Amino acid sequence: MRRFSCGHSDGVSEHYDVIIIGTGAGGGTLAHTLAPSGKKILLLERGDFLPRETDNWEPGPVFVDGKYISPDTWYGANGKPFQPQVHYYVGGATKMYGAALYRLRPADFGEIQHVDGPSPAWPLGYDDFEPWYTKAEWTSVLDLDCKAHELDNLYVVDTSFFPSIGAVNPALTAMANAIRVGEHLLTRLH
Ligand SMILES: Cc1cc2nc3c(=O)[nH]c(=O)nc-3n(C[C@H](O)[C@H](O)[C@H](O)COP(=O)(O)OP(=O)(O)OC[C@H]3O[C@@H](n4cnc5c(N)ncnc54)[C@H](O)[C@@H]3O)c2cc1C
Repeated sequence: MRRFSCGHSDGVSEHYDVIIIGTGAGGGTLAHTLAPSGKKILLLERGDFLPRETDNWEPGPVFVDGKYISPDTWYGANGKPFQPQVHYYVGGATKMYGAALYRLRPADFGEIQHVDGPSPAWPLGYDDFEPWYTKAEWTSVLDLDCKAHELDNLYVVDTSFFPSIGAVNPALTAMANAIRVGEHLLTRLH
């Protein structure tokens, strides 16, 4: 892997194996994938920590008021200004996303004609992505018994344990899983 170097104004130079710019779903997941290698990794993040406050959880401030959106103005190819809806925080927009985790369909990787114009084909297809979708879906805060990796006494059995959104009639699966986790807990508590 190529080595990058980062110069400091005091003349000291730090060397990293990898420098990742941005800490959201993309950068954060890349860091998580590379971390066990023991390589020296630098994460660069332009945003500050998102304040912990009830507005983070409220659709009004988040979606309607755009309280956490950056004040940037970007310009399109035609010179027209637009607000890019970016969120500059540690964790990025991913810090407040709704966790509705859909895969693209196979057809979505091909060229699609939309009302507003064509969406070009990807150089990769669904089959190329499939193993990585599966891996991404299992990158979670819970182990297979639905226990939080970092807390020994916290189990999650509502539909938020689903690796993708549990929006359409998920109750029986939630109940079956709760029985599965319950039986595990009974064994553990025995
Ligand atoms: C309220 C809300 C709800 C959402 N709900 C869903 C959902 O349910 N399901 C879903 O799939 N998607 C959802 N999304 C969209 C999803 O969150 C984003 O598409 C996804 O998180 C983007 O990940 P990313 O890594 O591309 O960018 P981000 O998570 O935004 O990360 C980019 C990071 O790069 C940093 N950065 C940018 N420029 C620089 C620079 N020059 N130097 C250093 N750092 C820099 C930014 O500060 C930011 O931290 C939602 C978004 C919002 C705002």
